[in-house]
Amino acid sequence: MTITPEPAHAAGAGEQPLLAVRDLHVTFTRSGRRIRAAKGVSFDVRPGKMLAIIGESGSGKSVTVRALMGLLPPSASVTGSAVLEGRELVGLSDRRMRMVRGQEISMVFQDPARSLNPTMSVGAQIVESVRTHRSIGRRQAAERAVELLQLVRLPAPEKRFHQYPHQLSGGMRQRVMIAIALASDPKVLIADEATTALDVTTQAQIMELLVDLRARLGTAVIMISHDLGLAASYADEVLVMYAGQVVEQAGTTELFANVRMPYTRALLEAIPQVSRPSHSALTVIGGHPPDPSQRIEGCPFRPRCPRATDICSTAPALEEHEPGHRYACWNPVPGSAAPSAVEPREETQP
Ligand code: ADP
Ligand code: MG
Repeated sequence: MTITPEPAHAAGAGEQPLLAVRDLHVTFTRSGRRIRAAKGVSFDVRPGKMLAIIGESGSGKSVTVRALMGLLPPSASVTGSAVLEGRELVGLSDRRMRMVRGQEISMVFQDPARSLNPTMSVGAQIVESVRTHRSIGRRQAAERAVELLQLVRLPAPEKRFHQYPHQLSGGMRQRVMIAIALASDPKVLIADEATTALDVTTQAQIMELLVDLRARLGTAVIMISHDLGLAASYADEVLVMYAGQVVEQAGTTELFANVRMPYTRALLEAIPQVSRPSHSALTVIGGHPPDPSQRIEGCPFRPRCPRATDICSTAPALEEHEPGHRYACWNPVPGSAAPSAVEPREETQP
């Protein structure tokens, strides 16, 4: 295995990354077959920034972040490097990993209804989380829990504290999950499809909350989604994954001004647009991602790619072709390519 010595991208060069992931590979062994779910993934997460990891289902997004959290089953083998503030996470013992997971990196998942205990009040659940991270008494922990509910902007936090999960809406439950994830003051918050189950309005509110938290607390956020439109609206940087590999990576503004990888372009075209009549079919990308247990020759997107030529039977390397913009493609999309409906919004930094 080779470790690339240079930084994963030039954007924000000079600023120390909080988390530096290099050449991360995750391979599952299942009944003698090897499933290569992440293949040489590299990226930086910078303090107080939001990185979006985007790709179709099965592209290796969850597996990548679960590897960072030590949350993969024993059938997974992880190689490469992930350094969080000078500490290597790959290869940590379970006990040490639990400490990192509890205190430095937290994760929020898609389904808050299933992650919360239906028989306990939300306040009691947050108190429990606070007390696993701090040795403080019940009363203080309860005060901290109410503070956390305020932090995630849950209306009437004192009242909600005593309620049970079923008494809250989906959006409120996700706010509670975020409060629980913040109980340890993590440096990195990972939201894995955390807004996917919510309606569009609530989804936007939760995304606004994550953006706001990263600005107010300086927490770095890794946001995982299959929805490139969400990344365009909220993330600072975007990493596009396909078949376990990073295929395009850039700052959000640069990426959407100059989409290069035909796969990213296809994801953009699959975004529902307000301007489009509701009966018009969305462009869905034809075909399927490759089977991760099969060996891939050449570019993994080649069988589905409208721009594929003979050269694509040789795998293109992920290279920085333009300042701060990396992509793995022999025949990149020329010119400016973002449809106007997904223009990135104004910078939200204070
Ligand atoms: P997504 O991008 O949708 O989050 P995942 O990271 O969950 O994708 O999965 C990437 C690939 O890894 C998929 O092909 C999936 O089948 C495989 N995979 C995930 N978890 C396991 C597991 N526990 N055992 C075997 N294969 C797995
Ligand atoms: Mg996933």
